[in-house]
Amino acid sequence: MKTQSILYLIISLFILSFLSASAQKKPKNVIFLIGDGMGISQIYSAMVANGNKLALERCTYAGFSKTYSANNFTTDSGAGGTALACGVKTKNGMIGMSADSVAVESILTLAKKNELATGIVVACGVTHATPAAYIAHQINRNMYDEIAADYLKTDIDVFIGGGRKYFENRADDRNLTNELKVKNYQIAYNLADLKTIRNGKLAGLLYEDHNPAMPERGNMLPESTMAALDILDNNKKGFFLMVEGSQIDWAAHDNNAKQVIKEMLDFDKTIEVALNFAQKDGNTLVIITADHETGGMTILNGTFGTDEMKAAFSSKDHSGIPVPIFAYGPGAENFSGFMENTCFKAKIEKLLKLKN
Ligand code: MG
Ligand code: ZN
Repeated sequence: MKTQSILYLIISLFILSFLSASAQKKPKNVIFLIGDGMGISQIYSAMVANGNKLALERCTYAGFSKTYSANNFTTDSGAGGTALACGVKTKNGMIGMSADSVAVESILTLAKKNELATGIVVACGVTHATPAAYIAHQINRNMYDEIAADYLKTDIDVFIGGGRKYFENRADDRNLTNELKVKNYQIAYNLADLKTIRNGKLAGLLYEDHNPAMPERGNMLPESTMAALDILDNNKKGFFLMVEGSQIDWAAHDNNAKQVIKEMLDFDKTIEVALNFAQKDGNTLVIITADHETGGMTILNGTFGTDEMKAAFSSKDHSGIPVPIFAYGPGAENFSGFMENTCFKAKIEKLLKLKN
């Protein structure tokens, strides 16, 4: 009898441990980081310059995202952002709409509907294509006034970047900053003020137009990300935060490898903020990817620890090749292998158990 109960105990312990190992842990929060124009060469140039290491190497899973749009082999950031945010391939230049011009809900809007906290932090105007894809529904990415007004149609908790003029100096004479205040947003015009805001709603309009490039921007991106996490983390139901390293793309359009490295290292510092938060928190999934590669960049030779390298570019525009994906935290295993850039919304939706 005694031997039998010990045997039962051993068997049930075995079954229990098997069940807990197979039940995959789900994240409560998602931090989605987009390096605009970030291909393998952009990443590796920074890794070489930084002495053969980057924070993003802490990610435990990696994959590839196919970036073509609905009407072009080579996507722009409008269609690329829309694929990442809304899960649909659309035509180049379009924001938050399907190829037949029907508005599509973004993962951020869906998360908000499910009472999660939501945020956007970018190193460019908040009306630019990539952040716009998470908030706005417009036929053309250059409709900055309309995109700014779309922020007022959402209840996004935190958004930080540049583009103040599209809120305050508009063709229709609306003052969107005042309208944001009516909606209980606290407005910050500089990083020092922004960092004093620890809860509630926050609109950080730090620059009149786009943020300056590195190094003039200083630690705007990593510090704003830290500030956003501080606020979003107050929501017990979890959060979705999108962060963009916006100007890797612009440096690559200029075929300026040294500037690509500067922007990449700033983005990696921001990735480190996200990974440190996730590591401490234990319930946060970090996903890092790009909307497309820019410049057809390659590195032919280099010296570890310096930004002196033989880099070459095959284009002044975007290329059509797949871009890397890196993931860390609960659910990260869903982001290995080759996938379409439209896969992220559905995967995150499922992992965060969001309801439509
Ligand atoms: Mg962008
Ligand atoms: Zn570009």
